[in-house]
Amino acid sequence: MAAQSKIPQATAKRLPLYYRFLNNLHLQGKTRVSSKELSEAVKVDSATIRRDFSYFGALGKKGYGYNVEYLLGFFRKTLDQDETTNVALIGVGNLGTAFLHYNFTKNNNTKIEMAFDADTSKIGETIGGVTVYHIDEMEDRLKNVQAVILTVPGSVAQPIAERIVKCGITGILNFTPARITVPDSVRVHHIDLAVELQSLVYFMKHYPNAL
Ligand code: ATP
Repeated sequence: MAAQSKIPQATAKRLPLYYRFLNNLHLQGKTRVSSKELSEAVKVDSATIRRDFSYFGALGKKGYGYNVEYLLGFFRKTLDQDETTNVALIGVGNLGTAFLHYNFTKNNNTKIEMAFDADTSKIGETIGGVTVYHIDEMEDRLKNVQAVILTVPGSVAQPIAERIVKCGITGILNFTPARITVPDSVRVHHIDLAVELQSLVYFMKHYPNAL
């Protein structure tokens, strides 16, 4: 989309955050919101919000704020909220099982369609409405799927990622501790919960008053 390519990456990363908050406002029947209100709710300074929103073609009016309906329309289009993105989950361990139970569609249009594991005791199970298939069936089954959530042990993350890429998947949300190498055409977002927690504790200790 032409408009989307003009949005800086840092701004694009905040889109889902804005979208979630504005959606809630809309559900409460609110029609407008000030940058100050937004800033307090999403914890992004109001100058950044004003700059971000100018990329969305939304110009806040003094004393009026932003039009919630307009912004929501823009976010829906930009985030492809009118289309559901099908996701597969690989590795139905503790974390993977929790994700299968989590209702992602509450806030966005992504849906875990299927899950894979190597442990035969888990094959054929339905968890949170999602069927678990054997990893050897992955190549045959990953047809209508655009993205993958990876929750296998780190030791097998790279070979599994290579198989995923060969299936034509272009997005991987990597929850394993391993850094995976994929072609440039594949986007990987890495979320290592242990590192995030460690980093939180570090900042709590060393920057107790910093925002
Ligand atoms: P659990 O207690 O169920 O083992 P866990 O999250 O501690 O959970 P991990 O060792 O991290 O377990 O493995 C996560 C999941 O990945 C497990 O269900 C495991 O069977 C699965 N798994 C391991 N190797 C593979 C593989 N090569 N392909 C697919 N799934 C795999």
